[in-house]
Amino acid sequence: MYNTTAALKCTDRNSNISSTTAGSMQNHCQNRSLFEDVLCQLDGIRVLENDTLRVKVTNECSFSCKFCHREGSIKSGNLALNTASIYGFTRLHKELKLTQAHLTGGEPTSYPHCRELIGELKSIGYRVKMTTNGQFEPDLIRRLKDAGLDGMNFSIHTFDAQKLCSLQRREKNIEWGLQALRQQLENVHMAQESGMEVKINTVVQKDADIYDVLRISDYCKNTGIGFRILNDLGQGASSIQQIDVILKSMNANVENINIINKSSGGFLNMVAKDGFKFKVKCIRKNMLETLCGKCKERDECMEWFYGIRVEQANGGAMVRLCIQRQDYPAMQTFEEFFTSRQFMELM
Ligand code: SF4
Repeated sequence: MYNTTAALKCTDRNSNISSTTAGSMQNHCQNRSLFEDVLCQLDGIRVLENDTLRVKVTNECSFSCKFCHREGSIKSGNLALNTASIYGFTRLHKELKLTQAHLTGGEPTSYPHCRELIGELKSIGYRVKMTTNGQFEPDLIRRLKDAGLDGMNFSIHTFDAQKLCSLQRREKNIEWGLQALRQQLENVHMAQESGMEVKINTVVQKDADIYDVLRISDYCKNTGIGFRILNDLGQGASSIQQIDVILKSMNANVENINIINKSSGGFLNMVAKDGFKFKVKCIRKNMLETLCGKCKERDECMEWFYGIRVEQANGGAMVRLCIQRQDYPAMQTFEEFFTSRQFMELM
């Protein structure tokens, strides 16, 4: 079986890929890193455009998962939906060709203007999805769908109530865990019934129980719901090694590698021995030179340049370019961003 650890680690050096064909990838790989070396050996490499904007709409969440990076801030507020933020979203769509808006948090369903925001983003031209903990009244799904929501990614890391409690920073009891799991599964089912695109995201920590992940993958296989494994950014290589152990136990092989141009993000399309298809997220060392070039935190960098995020900070909507830093130019107002060197580099 192909060793996925090498592809998941993606460590050696910056590799902005500008071509969209595997053939051109071969040319690109004259002086290649380990990651690129792996890419060049495989057929079916796809290079996708970075078309996604992440919008952190609130910091509030009834969960407190230990590995959650909260998009880089524990202080951001509820996003102000006003002329300035809509103007910013419109320019990002038109000038950087961002076509997917992904609502995050915190928990997006607890954001009071969720439906209005979805409506505004849809009218600009975005497809809109969200990542949710699944803790909401099921009838909200119909209202979100009517507002234009295209998909929901449910964060489910275990089906075991006790383990769910142990993943939380805030102390929880077993009754809370049982109720939270019931609610998640009911809403996954309702979202699927609604016709929306539905996925389950499972973060694998270094000590994750293999059988927990296998149970979730079986559930997805039996229900036809998409399944994606993510590593814990804060745990670096040890989380990736655990993913590798899980993939081996599934007898899973890589079908193809998808890397995203001008982003550290990407994913492997996997197929298990029984034919079940799923994805594994991977991060590679992609830098935005005008941001990362002189960064003092480079040696400790977890995510590299992933893409553009927006959040509410300092009284307005701000562009965030890095989840580890809170200073300029990692954080900028829309006004600053559209005249910045980082914007020019991304054009
Ligand atoms: S910490 Fe942020 S600015 Fe520094 S290298 Fe990483 S992504 Fe770039």
